Amino acid sequence: MADLQSLVAEIHAELAPRAGEGRVADYIPALARVDPKRFGIAVVDLDGRVAAAGDARVPFSIQSVSKVFTLTMALKRSGAELWTRVGREPSGSPFNSIVQLEAEKGVPRNPLINAGALVVTDTLLDGRGPRAAAADIVETLRGLAGGEPVETDGEVADSEARTGFRNASLANFIRSFGNIRNPIDDVLGVYFGQCALATSCVGLAHAGLYLANGGVDPVTGRRILDAAGARRICAVMMTCGHYDASGDFAFRVGLPGKSGVGGGILAVAPKRAAICVWSPGLGPAGTSLLGALALEKLAARTAWSVF
Ligand code: GLN
Repeated sequence: MADLQSLVAEIHAELAPRAGEGRVADYIPALARVDPKRFGIAVVDLDGRVAAAGDARVPFSIQSVSKVFTLTMALKRSGAELWTRVGREPSGSPFNSIVQLEAEKGVPRNPLINAGALVVTDTLLDGRGPRAAAADIVETLRGLAGGEPVETDGEVADSEARTGFRNASLANFIRSFGNIRNPIDDVLGVYFGQCALATSCVGLAHAGLYLANGGVDPVTGRRILDAAGARRICAVMMTCGHYDASGDFAFRVGLPGKSGVGGGILAVAPKRAAICVWSPGLGPAGTSLLGALALEKLAARTAWSVF
């Protein structure tokens, strides 16, 4: 791990001068206030050892990285039936696109675009109210984050609720096909809450460890998901985790990953480690510019790849 620590520090030092490149997400007003120069990297191996550099312990808005954890929870609750309501094909479209939904009768392409994540969140509301579902999501992430703080950033959640017209459109459109079943406002409220969760790179890397370890959190020994489920989530992350930049990420990094517009990316190196990078400046697909570069360097120098 000493080697890994120096590698992480080296990559951070190489890229730090470029911190601030890209565009911070400003369609969510509260996110636009984040310092664009923040930059953190954390790698947590299967023994729970941490290699970290820069702002790796500063909490940030995890945004769409939350979709990995809600998908995990939904698969546990609904099992394979979930796949009748959401597909597992890359969309080749932006994260908040509505175009495919009409032709495909309200069944979103995959659970990692907004449309699909809204359906996933809808299933988490079955049989309980929005407070219970939201609390379950927070507690799930807290239980996985290796003791790092996990909080809901109320300002971000309110900001999204006030400006989330696109997500409201998606949810209503899907509902018109009957593929959202709970009240729209509850689904949107829980979805905005999950996106507004904040934790650090170290916390998020810890939280992704079960995906690198066949569904078992190696630190607590708890089974989070069956091995096949964990493999499948990794497959969906690989093919769909970066929207219309998923192919580019697979080509450059070669690891399953999930990005968020807060500038975080969670990547999984199966049987080795989970990695989280954070840099708020985004590229054209709304994924972290420096984050992808850092992962590209890390994957190249460790030779970690699923290929
Ligand atoms: N909360 C954001 C949204 O729904 C999440 C998008 C993202 O991180 N790609 O617009």
